Amino acid sequence: MNVVTRNKGGYFKLIIIGGGYAGLSALITLRKQAPDAEITLIDPRADHLIITRLHETVHCPLNNIRVPYSLLAKRFNFIHKQHAIQFDENLIKEWELSKVIQIDEESISFDYLLITTGSLPIQSIIEPDVYDLNIIGQQGFAPILEQFIASAETHEKTINIIGAGPTGIQFAFELAHVLLTCHRDYRLNLIEGSDTLMGSFPVAISHYIEKRLFEKQISVLKSQFYKGKQDHKILFENSHSGDKSRLASDLTLLLLGKKPKLLLHANSSGQVILDHKVLRHIFTAGDCSYYDDFGSNLMTSQSALRKGKAAANNILREACILRFCLPYMHQEIGYLISLGPSDAVGWIGNKKAIITGLTAFTAKEVIEAQYDLLLKGINTYIL
Ligand SMILES: Cc1cc2nc3c(=O)[nH]c(=O)nc-3n(C[C@H](O)[C@H](O)[C@H](O)COP(=O)(O)OP(=O)(O)OC[C@H]3O[C@@H](n4cnc5c(N)ncnc54)[C@H](O)[C@@H]3O)c2cc1C
Repeated sequence: MNVVTRNKGGYFKLIIIGGGYAGLSALITLRKQAPDAEITLIDPRADHLIITRLHETVHCPLNNIRVPYSLLAKRFNFIHKQHAIQFDENLIKEWELSKVIQIDEESISFDYLLITTGSLPIQSIIEPDVYDLNIIGQQGFAPILEQFIASAETHEKTINIIGAGPTGIQFAFELAHVLLTCHRDYRLNLIEGSDTLMGSFPVAISHYIEKRLFEKQISVLKSQFYKGKQDHKILFENSHSGDKSRLASDLTLLLLGKKPKLLLHANSSGQVILDHKVLRHIFTAGDCSYYDDFGSNLMTSQSALRKGKAAANNILREACILRFCLPYMHQEIGYLISLGPSDAVGWIGNKKAIITGLTAFTAKEVIEAQYDLLLKGINTYIL
């Protein structure tokens, strides 16, 4: 990024709502350039969750992918308020005028506000033996699986994963590996509402995944929409014929993806646009943002990190700490999907450059390590 420093260390007050990938990437960028800025992070959780590793909780404790905000607050010198802020477009407009956020009895003033509240699981129905991203994110999957394996019944059990996106696929391979290691009889089904697996990815990626699923004896059911659960059966509707069917299910994972509660439009500096007006003091980044001009708006950690960094640099420019910086122009530079403990598939550089096996697995580990380093204060992101 092309930047020239004008007033290093300048004082201003910043509030960040949401301490995920975008919020922390912005915070770390800002802290480096503005050591005297007063930064408050508001997030209802006690820990930052490295959600791109969530599938690893099939065999690892959740603590492996949690980083306490208290630790990050000491490392990057900010105040963490453990609170969920409820807001809508009208409140955002009020914030732009008042520059004050109310948390219970406390009023916190700001010069700049960054909203990075991410997205929410698409469907959250709490039913017995059905687990969604919220529950897995709170408990990890290992305790759920341990209980499932320990239950006394001897008949072959069925696990259904609803949603064959990257998350569903990653969970399927981790589960297949753990259940094989435990020598358990099980039936593992991956159920998808559309007609193709990973339709938005290059066809070579879906072919590789289908081959590996077959080898691991994971059955794939396509064109089936999940309609709920009754007793020990899950209910489906065929997306073409409308035919209804039922399938035995002892354990159901509902991994239908996420979408933002409120999607905020922004200019290429990350400033929120409401009613065609740019709000100069309110920025957004990550899954809850859509930048109208350039750059990738995909809901990926890579875009969230880059939008966070771009928004941070533009806040620094508004605060007269940087003289200028480039608008957000990031394009995806790759995507890798883990297929168990030593296999992965994806593309790097361009969508024709497909990598598989140990090479892809190692590349994915490097990307995760890069993020771990960022949280430790070492920024290795060049692009
Ligand atoms: C299981 C899973 C695996 C994934 N794997 C990959 C991958 O391998 N590669 C990839 O590129 N992308 C992956 N993604 C997508 C990626 O994780 C998201 O795009 C990324 O997390 C978005 O970052 P964010 O900062 O916008 O939101 P998040 O990381 O979701 O953070 C949002 C934060 O805001 C907080 N928050 C929410 N509401 C409020 C509120 N009202 N008040 C205060 N705080 C609030 C939340 O507690 C959370 O800490 C994956 C997603 C999931 C769910």
